[in-house]
Amino acid sequence: MTCTDFLSQLTDYFDGQIDAELLAEVQGHIAECHHCHVVLDTTKQTIEVYRDNEIYDFSPELQSRLHATIMSRCREVKVR
Ligand SMILES: [Zn+2]
Repeated sequence: MTCTDFLSQLTDYFDGQIDAELLAEVQGHIAECHHCHVVLDTTKQTIEVYRDNEIYDFSPELQSRLHATIMSRCREVKVR
């Protein structure tokens, strides 16, 4: 699984709409990839905050912003 694959599964992961095989791949990727681990942590915290305020809405805009941030970080790592 690549970071892109991971990100594309992220919303399903949080929705609990992910099958066991894919879940194992996602968890495997998180274990290996620090960036995606941080993303998952940050996203969890973000969702908690939204839920506390009862305005939970994992919008496409938020998804694309997260995606852009992570992918740029991944690229930074590669060129180092
Ligand atoms: Zn990753």
